[in-house]
Amino acid sequence: MLDIFVVGGGINGASVARDAVGRGYTVALAEMNDLASGTSSAATKLIHGGLRYLEHYEFRLVHEALAEREVLWASAPHIIWPLRFVLPHHKGLRPAAVLRAGLALYDYMGGRRLLPPTKTLDLTKDEAGKPLKPGYKLAFEYSDCWVNDARFVVLNARDAADRGATIHVRTKVVSARRGDGGWTIELDGEAGKQTVRARMLVNAAGPWVDAVINQSLGKNGGRNVRLVQGSHIVTKKLYEHDRCYFFQNSDGRIFFAIPYEEDFTLIGTTDRDYHGDPKDVAITEEETAYLLNAANEYFAQGVTQDDIVWSYSGVRPLYDDGASAAQEATRDYVLKVEGDAKSGAVINVFGGKLTTSRRLAESVLEKIEEVLGKKGPAWTAKGTLPGGDFGPKSFDAELRKLAMDYPGMNAGLLRRLLRLYGTRARTVLGEAKSEADLGPHFGADLYGAEVDYLVANEWARTAQDVLWRRTKRGLKVSAGDAARLEDYLAARDESRA
Ligand code: FAD
Repeated sequence: MLDIFVVGGGINGASVARDAVGRGYTVALAEMNDLASGTSSAATKLIHGGLRYLEHYEFRLVHEALAEREVLWASAPHIIWPLRFVLPHHKGLRPAAVLRAGLALYDYMGGRRLLPPTKTLDLTKDEAGKPLKPGYKLAFEYSDCWVNDARFVVLNARDAADRGATIHVRTKVVSARRGDGGWTIELDGEAGKQTVRARMLVNAAGPWVDAVINQSLGKNGGRNVRLVQGSHIVTKKLYEHDRCYFFQNSDGRIFFAIPYEEDFTLIGTTDRDYHGDPKDVAITEEETAYLLNAANEYFAQGVTQDDIVWSYSGVRPLYDDGASAAQEATRDYVLKVEGDAKSGAVINVFGGKLTTSRRLAESVLEKIEEVLGKKGPAWTAKGTLPGGDFGPKSFDAELRKLAMDYPGMNAGLLRRLLRLYGTRARTVLGEAKSEADLGPHFGADLYGAEVDYLVANEWARTAQDVLWRRTKRGLKVSAGDAARLEDYLAARDESRA
């Protein structure tokens, strides 16, 4: 019998599985679709304290989240890196002195050691003022971090598997029933129907957490999560520098404009209650118009529907704390334990953020220890994620080393691979001397060797998995190349069968 079975391969499930197996528990996880196919690939992708949560007095959350920025950056400097945010000041905002004080608090609470502090910008002189409409004179610039969200999940799952956890993808937990000192869990997925036994269950099903309680566990758990939809648009690059903007819209809501995948700008997010099936969530016309209008309040160059190259939408599974407005519902996580060691215990996970996923896992582990007894100590604060073993601030040095080892490879390709796979880029490239040795080309620098790596090491099954979650090559490859990739993956499957 396993110690722990985790339902859900989003960031919370993957982080719990990784932490638990690293402490010596036996662990398996099931994800009904692809890893990170739920909310965890639909985020704004910030590792941040959440400046605006200060306004909602979420001090515990902000403090924990701020401290996580440097911990997570050090653990995965390939997929997480610092960003500077420019917050232009204008009449509709709080007085400049209040904002300055809020940012000083943000700097102070964050226990910052490596990230640079807040400073004031003169937008009439600074490059950050150039893309904006005339009239913006003063801005504040502060630090947070960026994360490649889908890869954050996959690397947690990879690390869990490297340490001995079993990861089932495209495998649904259909039911889980208590009895004989644990759970009997029915799975249905790519390996057919299976039954497994585990002493504890962790329900990290995100937007489906209530469905798992009410359907798979057969309980009448009611409604605990409030689904809040958030959508983003990706446009052609709106400006040249590498900083982000933090804007406040005329309705008081905030949004970001962020440099994205070199050639694009990411704009989001919206915040609206969602009542449909989470799997069907998609950006609405109203949200698109809202984001375009918001961008047009600030950027001098008009942004239109024609500039949009992609959009995505997800639902935040927030703990329902009864807040009236969607944007006011708590972003903090809540854990609820039910049952005990004798009868089989379950921990239901509500809410959370990418930023606090590692700390959420530690809190889950504290509860697991109460039921199953303690094994190893907490370890993830100092652990690195696969490929991230080169330290913060060393990305450029690591890239130079990679370029020396692969002098025949295109510099842009090496940079991209290092950003995705870190030191494991060497496993992707193997003995290849130039692109010609990397197998079939699917456009936009995506070669067979990378696809093979993703299938062998990162549970990629379909072109969608490769193009939109493991990489974002979907933004650049043609429909024909995507179809060839699908054929290539299908042929690999057949030759395996
Ligand atoms: P999910 O990622 O949805 O994972 C749950 C998984 O469970 C799914 O993959 C699902 O397929 C699986 N599952 C469900 N039922 C079953 C079953 N029966 N059997 C097997 N598998 C099952 N956080 C930040 O820190 N920074 C941000 O900038 C940020 N921006 C955001 C912007 C938006 C618009 C949204 C929506 C969220 C944002 N977040 C951000 C929050 C963050 O993305 C979420 O808190 C986090 O991804 C939730 O992860 P999860 O693992 O709980 O859920």
